[in-house]
Amino acid sequence: MRLSSRTEQFTDSVIRRMTRISDEYGAINLSQGFPDFEPPIEITKSLAKVATEGPHQYAVTFGAKNFRDAVAKKYEHFSGLKVDPDKEIVVTCGSTEAMMATMMSIVNPKDKVAVFSPFYENYGADAILSGAEPIYIPLVPPTFDFDKKVLEDAFIQGAKAIILCNPSNPCGKVFTHEELSYIAELAIKYDAFVVTDEVYEHIVYAPNRHVYMQALPGMRDRTIVCNSLSKTYSITGWRLGYVIANEEISERIKKVHDFLTVGAAAPLMEAAVTGLEFDDSYYEELAAHYSHMKEVFVGGLDKLGFKYTNPQGAYYVLLDVSEFGVRDDNEFCEWMIKNVGVAAVPGSSFFKEDINNYIRLHFAKQDDTLIEALNRLATLREKANAAKDVSWR
Ligand code: GLN
Repeated sequence: MRLSSRTEQFTDSVIRRMTRISDEYGAINLSQGFPDFEPPIEITKSLAKVATEGPHQYAVTFGAKNFRDAVAKKYEHFSGLKVDPDKEIVVTCGSTEAMMATMMSIVNPKDKVAVFSPFYENYGADAILSGAEPIYIPLVPPTFDFDKKVLEDAFIQGAKAIILCNPSNPCGKVFTHEELSYIAELAIKYDAFVVTDEVYEHIVYAPNRHVYMQALPGMRDRTIVCNSLSKTYSITGWRLGYVIANEEISERIKKVHDFLTVGAAAPLMEAAVTGLEFDDSYYEELAAHYSHMKEVFVGGLDKLGFKYTNPQGAYYVLLDVSEFGVRDDNEFCEWMIKNVGVAAVPGSSFFKEDINNYIRLHFAKQDDTLIEALNRLATLREKANAAKDVSWR
């Protein structure tokens, strides 16, 4: 039997695989990023109400009207941009579908798309499935700055779009106004799209702040915003995402979305409107909560004397494991699950460059979970140094 060659070109998600191995060994799972605390009670109460009152049938394919209205209102509040909820928003099954539907809508096979590296692993598969040829722009550790000339060169080579994950998974970079303005300048000069992934827009650590690409001069119509409710309202399992783009682009994305999934879950959209209507205090408390979790976790890593990247936004750290002589970070992460009881994602699954001295850990967890994870990580150095005949060295 011959199967499609496009599905031969990528592996299953390393992030999701690490979660499966972690569950198998009962490790503390700091690999796939999701919280172990409850969503806001107001949202779960709405869900209970929806269970008895509905809706339980299909919503409009591109999203229930009240959900799109609430997204438009919230987006205007934070970005200052007015968007037409009927023409410029497509509600999707998570930002994963938002990004894939976007790529399918803008890319022809062999079109070039610029991607910063390290990058969230889905973009690799998105590029292959849409036929795009990625051009990688290194974000160079430890500061994760990029070389302006290298970026411009990607556009000179013909990049039709650039994918911008901001705040960035996995490196925690929050792009500055100056950096974003430069990217915008190039997008305008070379007539390219900017596809953003802004799922961590509200998880930013002071003094950094989130700047909306689409709100920069000249970017309203060439920015395609992909976002999700997963991280902002701690509902990763609900799979609620959306695209914000001008009418012409949204029309195309609506078609792709309709035939891919028909629509996001109607009862969940209804219940999530409650969250989209929260006032500013919710987002302030969310940011404060994440700052606290970050302090607990990186404070613990400091005590243990580890080297790591301290994020400006999102909820990941890249832990430097070069001191253990790691050559194969995939094997190392599997070994760590089994021997230390903490699951991480091998850094190499995010980098295009040959970099394998990082593992990614996330800290969207309750204090007790983080403290137990740190207690286990306290044994890492001794165990790794003592490990004999291991496949990762
Ligand atoms: N964004 C999360 C991560 O990087 C997980 C996303 C997912 O698995 N859909 O871990």
